[in-house]
Amino acid sequence: MAEKTLFEKIRDRELPAEILHEDDLCLAFKDISPQAPTHWLVIPKKPIPRVAEATTEDQAVLGHLLLTAGKIARKAGFAESGFRLVINNGPDGGEAVPHLHVHLLAGRPLTWPPG
Ligand code: IMP
Repeated sequence: MAEKTLFEKIRDRELPAEILHEDDLCLAFKDISPQAPTHWLVIPKKPIPRVAEATTEDQAVLGHLLLTAGKIARKAGFAESGFRLVINNGPDGGEAVPHLHVHLLAGRPLTWPPG
């Protein structure tokens, strides 16, 4: 069996994390190195490495990740002030953890373009 990713270990409570939301398909927790006052990660429980490796089988879970990110952002009061969702893919995309995750950044004005 393949070794678990860091985020599978968080999913399975083998590593600590501040968990904000959990359901059948996904988990949301605080990023350990926040790049904004609010920086959360939303991951699928299924270890899809990255968007480029998702398949049509993953369509529902991919949609669910965005809906969940929107829901927790709304619940935290960011619907009006705004927030940013980011998905890094591969080396040039800045993906460090090979387990698909949506970054949710909020709590300050975010500049564009990103670095
Ligand atoms: P990436 O660069 O898009 O792969 O993002 C990986 C993110 O995971 C980074 O923002 C890291 O700060 C975050 N991260 C790494 N290890 C942990 C952890 O143990 N708990 C929570 N977040 C983590």
